[in-house]
Amino acid sequence: MIQALGILGALIRGVWITARHFLVNLFFHTLQLFGIKTKRKGAVTIQYPEKKKELAARHRSLHRLLKREDGKPRCVACMLCVTVCPSECIVVEAAEDPDPEVQKTAARFDIDLTRCCFCGFCVEACPEDAIRMDTGVIDISALSRADLQYGLDKLLK
Ligand code: SF4
Ligand code: SF4
Repeated sequence: MIQALGILGALIRGVWITARHFLVNLFFHTLQLFGIKTKRKGAVTIQYPEKKKELAARHRSLHRLLKREDGKPRCVACMLCVTVCPSECIVVEAAEDPDPEVQKTAARFDIDLTRCCFCGFCVEACPEDAIRMDTGVIDISALSRADLQYGLDKLLK
């Protein structure tokens, strides 16, 4: 009997704590909804996607390829990113570049985002600073796997 009362007491205490947090958060969220600013926020939960968290400067988001001054990709198809990628999700095909200073360029550069683990090794390995993961794009979703294949056209945008 005493044990049952103890369990019941703990149960009521737990429900009270949850209800108190819920009501306090609801109160502050309602204030914010009507534009009333308070120092205290309703909850630590960010109301995504209406509100987005500020990303850290070194956050690794969607890849992009950088261009040279003449608009061509900076990538010289050295294959270092392909070699270092642990997910084996980068495919690069080299082509000859008419510029003798450059010699090689990427005729094809594909990243399979369904396999990428966003480790950033490709960025670290690139000797030309041709690939970065600083777009700030994190909501990468698609309805088909094909839409998550990023080629030169998408990566150079
Ligand atoms: S972030 Fe990592 S897994 Fe993704 S493409 Fe670059 S090296 Fe490969
Ligand atoms: S490491 Fe850089 S230059 Fe080499 S293939 Fe990858 S993106 Fe191109």
